[in-house]
Amino acid sequence: MTKAEADGEGEISDLPEHKSEVFVANIEIDELDGIGPATKAKLNDIGITTVLDLAVKSPSEVADAVGSDLSRATELCNKARAKLVELKYFDEDFVSATEIYKRRKAIERITTGSKNLDDLLAGGIETQAVTEFYGEFGSGKTQICHTLCVTSQLPKDKGGLSSRVVYVDTENTFRPERIAEIAHSRGQHSDTILEGIIVAKAFNSSHQELILAELGSQIRKSGVRLVIVDSAVAHYRAEFLGRGTLSERQQRLNKFMHTLVRTAEVYNVAVVVTNQVQSSPDTFFGDPTKATGGHVVAHTSTYRIYLRKSGKNRVARMVDSPYHAEREIVFFLNEKGVDDPSEDAVSRRRN
Ligand code: ATP
Ligand code: MG
Repeated sequence: MTKAEADGEGEISDLPEHKSEVFVANIEIDELDGIGPATKAKLNDIGITTVLDLAVKSPSEVADAVGSDLSRATELCNKARAKLVELKYFDEDFVSATEIYKRRKAIERITTGSKNLDDLLAGGIETQAVTEFYGEFGSGKTQICHTLCVTSQLPKDKGGLSSRVVYVDTENTFRPERIAEIAHSRGQHSDTILEGIIVAKAFNSSHQELILAELGSQIRKSGVRLVIVDSAVAHYRAEFLGRGTLSERQQRLNKFMHTLVRTAEVYNVAVVVTNQVQSSPDTFFGDPTKATGGHVVAHTSTYRIYLRKSGKNRVARMVDSPYHAEREIVFFLNEKGVDDPSEDAVSRRRN
């Protein structure tokens, strides 16, 4: 037996099939009252084929697509939501804490490859949430994304979800050969791992939004449990220069981020986004010209981790989390992608 085999190479199990979820995810929109063939075709054009897709979209997008006013579009989105509540796929609008607790128990985690970083995240990257890594150039954002492409495909007992990944690459920094190196160093077949990654290169912000519109069907079709957007903001920053364009940029980014949050919750997938900062972080939510803190967290299921360089190591700090302690940990970048500094690994072996 080779070392790679002993380490569990080729152990990627079949993609999970949650029967009831698959059933709900496949209910087509024309099963809703009030959606005829013409409306169906228009919705299909913007990537909405199922009730679930419709429930994730904002009424203004639906209004644009079907050429209706906002109130009819809102009614359609609400119908989709009501149907999913009826099927017990969505929670009622007012739910007991027990129900929320039950839904949160469906949350699963993906290891980052570093024990320290996993501890900071209370076990790894969560499904049903958007996790944002922000920091300056070279702080390890893209390396974390590459490592997650490998770890998320591992079986559950190895910290993954045996599932595929969508990688939205906006800076042209996705490197298959780096994935192959990380996979190989972690005892995995690099070909199998590369097969499991669906890469979408976004050429500008509008293209990035178009890719997002297709995300739901891709998640369903390919059994995806992790979506990466590296970087979420780069195009917006490059295209909207100057204060005059700030509010449009913010509006578009807001919409992009809110759709990601809903996608994470509705499809029970983990979403990871990166954001480069020089001095102050970009704001994903709220109006940056008003928020004194420079950031308004509008949604509790979004985690932000600030990364910085510290000599050869990298330091990660959890910021603004509703339930993680605000503290810092140290991790390391090497051939395995994200790893623990060797002194930590040694001290753990001793204990
Ligand atoms: P940017 O904002 O420019 O996108 P980033 O935060 O995404 O930056 P990364 O690309 O994740 O930065 O990190 C780059 C760093 O990763 C390099 O400076 C190097 O230290 C480290 N790195 C990259 N590849 C390897 C490797 N094969 N082995 C060890 N370290 C590596
Ligand atoms: Mg990068």
